[in-house]
Amino acid sequence: MRQFSKNFLIFLIIFFVLAGLASMLTPSLEKQDKTDISTLIAQINNEEVESIEVSGNKLTIKLNDGTKETVQKEGAESLTALLKNYEVSSAKIQKIDIAVKDESGLAFWLITLSPILIPLLLFIGIIYFMMRQVQGANSRAMMFGKSKAREVSNQLTTKEKTTFKDVAGVKEAKEELDEVVDFLKNPKKFINVGAKIPKGVLLVGPPGTGKTLLAKAVSGEAGVPFFNISGSEFVEMFVGVGASRVRDLFHKAKKSSPCIVFIDELDAVGRQRGAGLGGSNDEREQTLNQILVEMDGFDVNTNIIVIAATNRPDVLDAALLRPGRFDRRVVLDFPDIADREAILKVHAKNKPIVKEVDLRKIAARTPGFTGADLANLLNEAAILTARKDKKQVDETAILESIEKVMLGPERKSHILNEQERKITAYHEAGHALVAHELPNADPVHKVSIVSRGRAAGYTLKLPTEDKHLHTRAEFIDDLAVFLAGHTTEKEIFGDISTGASNDLKQATRLARRLIMEYGMSENLVPRTFGEKEELIFLGREIHEQRDYSEKVAEVIDEEISHLISEARKTALNIIKKKKTKLEEIVKILLEKEAIEKDEFEKIFGKKTKE
Ligand code: ADP
Ligand code: MG
Ligand code: ZN
Repeated sequence: MRQFSKNFLIFLIIFFVLAGLASMLTPSLEKQDKTDISTLIAQINNEEVESIEVSGNKLTIKLNDGTKETVQKEGAESLTALLKNYEVSSAKIQKIDIAVKDESGLAFWLITLSPILIPLLLFIGIIYFMMRQVQGANSRAMMFGKSKAREVSNQLTTKEKTTFKDVAGVKEAKEELDEVVDFLKNPKKFINVGAKIPKGVLLVGPPGTGKTLLAKAVSGEAGVPFFNISGSEFVEMFVGVGASRVRDLFHKAKKSSPCIVFIDELDAVGRQRGAGLGGSNDEREQTLNQILVEMDGFDVNTNIIVIAATNRPDVLDAALLRPGRFDRRVVLDFPDIADREAILKVHAKNKPIVKEVDLRKIAARTPGFTGADLANLLNEAAILTARKDKKQVDETAILESIEKVMLGPERKSHILNEQERKITAYHEAGHALVAHELPNADPVHKVSIVSRGRAAGYTLKLPTEDKHLHTRAEFIDDLAVFLAGHTTEKEIFGDISTGASNDLKQATRLARRLIMEYGMSENLVPRTFGEKEELIFLGREIHEQRDYSEKVAEVIDEEISHLISEARKTALNIIKKKKTKLEEIVKILLEKEAIEKDEFEKIFGKKTKE
């Protein structure tokens, strides 16, 4: 609507300007007196008139003294007839130079019709602009079928281009993709020896591990255009839109081959067909079919490589994965400590970071962080630095940001009353003490009673090294650590607060997994219990199919209860035995709100693994 009124205003302005110009060009604005017929007759009789110019009904009179005047005569009569009617003598008429200007042309009609024409034009103008508005909306609706693929041009300067240098770690993935770069650069080399160039590469990995980044880097390395579309963009309300977008995308890509088509979140369209509910599923199937058709459609020389990314390879349709489609899989995993350090280095480049900061130490503190988390971490640290009006990012800022990224922002305003502070201090001290005493639990890095996110306090434990496998013994110790807070509260106060509810939830979940997924129960055969089924419309595991009997279900419940009560016993024993140490931690916590690793180890000694 705003657009329309703007257009209308422009139209009005143009109209007035034109009208102004037109009136300036017509001679009628020349300074001329208007008189009437009788004056003219009198002037003719007095022989004052030199010439008369007749144009239509307008008489332009030039007098002997040079002045000009106009007279409007009646339409029907000619000038001579008129003068005769007024009985002007023909001798006097002959003295006057009468010129008749032909006015049957355009001007005549324009002038006659202008009172009708101008409003009509105005009206047509308004209608025209309104139509254009409507059409604009219409053609936007027709754009639905066009792909929204964005081409990231290869004309970016080398500085802006993403290359493998910007992707740290993921060595194997880069090696694998180096091949793809080679295909794109010298396809002939491969075609000559009869090798088929792969059409599709599937990047698999948890969110934030750099899949999108890597795909961009491939196009940067190869110097080819990059068409980027996300799987979820294919899925729209209207059936058939997705398929037509796919068609359009590949059409565009073929025009600028060699190039890379990148389909992000492939799982949004590429789920197993026929597995979902509801209408949108048909749409997805059509879209998926179209992708398959397009991928089969291009011949050896097309030189388009489709790179897709997903974090759920398990749900993908088998047809996508067969040879000739996404047959190459590149797996990106959580970065290990060396990779984390390398990623931190990449992101530290454009930030002023104090020289002494040991990125290795930061990497050691951030197990389980993805590349995206690490990038976010350094960004948070920079924000923190700016807010403190400092010029360089120092280690405290980074360490502080680790906790922020892990647990959410500190809530300093969330003030606990004296009793709550005391309960929280004991609770956290309990976690810390048990974690320290149990040989298979991760060592304590920090204990705090400042609320963060939703937790009233927190105990930060970190593994000494990256772990890929976990043992039963570790899990059993972890269970005891989870329960330590709850147990301490009960032991000290004889009562339990709601602060332990999250611990209990986590403990229960862990115990359940031990028994049902990992086969770590002592009384049940090592098998899995329950088949998790995914309901596609929610995209989350919400439904569990029971593949065991009622009797076994009872045993599972017993086993879970057994694990938890054992864990509580373990925790209680430690708390009773080391009560003085517990009180010591509590005292410091109440005083300073937090204990860092160094101070903690001064009291307890370094944790040694037996
Ligand atoms: P994904 O697509 O796997 O979810 P992205 O590629 O979008 O993850 O990664 C998000 C951001 O995380 C990137 O823009 C980059 O800043 C950072 N990042 C992730 N992995 C790496 C890595 N290996 N090296 C450098 N930066 C990374
Ligand atoms: Mg991504
Ligand atoms: Zn707790």
